[in-house]
Amino acid sequence: MRARLLIGPLVQRAFPGLIVHRGEAAAGHVYLTFDDGPDPERTPELLEILRRQRAQTTFFLIGQRCERSPELVRQMLADGHMVANHGYTHSSPREAPGRRYIEDVLRCQNVLEQIVGTVTPRLFRPPFGALGLRALSGLRREGFRVVLWSLDSHDSKRRTSAAIVAQRLAPARVRAGDIVLLHEDYAWTAEALPGVIEALRATGLGFATLASMQDWTGNRVNVGRWGRARLEPLGERGKRCAE
Ligand SMILES: [Zn+2]
Repeated sequence: MRARLLIGPLVQRAFPGLIVHRGEAAAGHVYLTFDDGPDPERTPELLEILRRQRAQTTFFLIGQRCERSPELVRQMLADGHMVANHGYTHSSPREAPGRRYIEDVLRCQNVLEQIVGTVTPRLFRPPFGALGLRALSGLRREGFRVVLWSLDSHDSKRRTSAAIVAQRLAPARVRAGDIVLLHEDYAWTAEALPGVIEALRATGLGFATLASMQDWTGNRVNVGRWGRARLEPLGERGKRCAE
């Protein structure tokens, strides 16, 4: 909730194009995103479900965990998913004040690129959705795009369940272009997922990575009365990571 309060129109105006809430709608895709992995306990099952459902997604990974399970990161890529940055130690700006915050993000990027073996697009999801002005200017300086979400699956809420996740992601609630917040480390997420994907696919929606987006400029970023943010294409760094 804190992220929502901070990212008002003034912040959007101060950092045009930096923050993304929604994906491209025209392609008819939903952008499922999974935070906090890789998790040796849960990721293999999750990848198996996504393989069976032929759904491509984006994983916002924690650098420390990537170092412990690099083979899972490589498996994500081999399966056609995108991997992106969720910080090295999963710290908020309060936990890692000043320069430490951006150093943590850069360290995670470095770990990802070591494992992937090439540069990867600088997409970052802030842990806890928490951001401050100093963190935002550091991220902009280092060429990151901040990806939040348009739909929270509620899989990390206190008294949640597969039924609640399925309800949150029911076809009536999900639109093309939605960026959906999910997590890797909960059994109920994996339990709900096959039914969720099948129901959404039955309405004509597909599932793609954020790297597949062609038109970042068409993002309907929530910028209030200031109009649409200006979003630049990912460029060369982005293209290479799509693989
Ligand atoms: Zn997280």
